[in-house]
Amino acid sequence: MAININAYQEVLSRLKPYNAQLVAVSKTKPAEDIAAFYAAGQRIFGENYVQELVDKQAVLPADIEWHFIGHLQSNKVKYMAPFVHTIHAVDSLKLLQEINKQAAKHQRVINCLLQVHIAAEETKFGLDGQELQQLLSSWNSHQADFANIRIAGMMGMATNTTNETQVRQEFHQLHQLFGSVKTTFFNTQDYFRELSIGMSADYTIALEEGSTLVRIGSLLFGERNYNQ
Ligand SMILES: *Cc1c(COP(=O)(O)O)cnc(C)c1O
Repeated sequence: MAININAYQEVLSRLKPYNAQLVAVSKTKPAEDIAAFYAAGQRIFGENYVQELVDKQAVLPADIEWHFIGHLQSNKVKYMAPFVHTIHAVDSLKLLQEINKQAAKHQRVINCLLQVHIAAEETKFGLDGQELQQLLSSWNSHQADFANIRIAGMMGMATNTTNETQVRQEFHQLHQLFGSVKTTFFNTQDYFRELSIGMSADYTIALEEGSTLVRIGSLLFGERNYNQ
């Protein structure tokens, strides 16, 4: 077990002044590692793979708040709908509709974060500014059809670079977009309040740029090995 409880305590102390929350990203890591952080007080965990999330949820304490942070295919929503708290990477109206439909079957409301593409890399998922606007307009004019989802905020991933200025700029841009979206679409709604930015390498920058949810994996759980 390579988990790092000291790093966990340090992350928590850095989050505190910002009132931000930690999503402990446990993808590829065994349930025992999650249980160890749970024993230390952590309750929010993030997973990227549907089957892995479902398997872990079944064997871990029921009061864990599960966040799905990976790219999600519509046909897999049904497996997590009974329990998932927040889905971070929603990037289409079709996915939002499916989440709503599956949440309704369980009489639940699932929090959704809209993923916006902020990185310079081509490969990352997410909406551009115009697509975001379109999705929100469609949602806004059919709000009654979305009673089982709540658009709780936005999510983004900065470019994978050591250039801190660039990372800061990308987070800053997303925070500004978040502010204008809130004003335009969620003026009277206090539930639109999460900005999910920041990972192990860049979470301190993200906090300075308005993060309310940091998603941290390797710093807490050790490096991931995808080939085992
Ligand atoms: C894996 C992952 C993280 C955590 O990354 P670390 O660098 O290990 O902290 C955060 N967000 C997303 C979307 C991820 O896929």
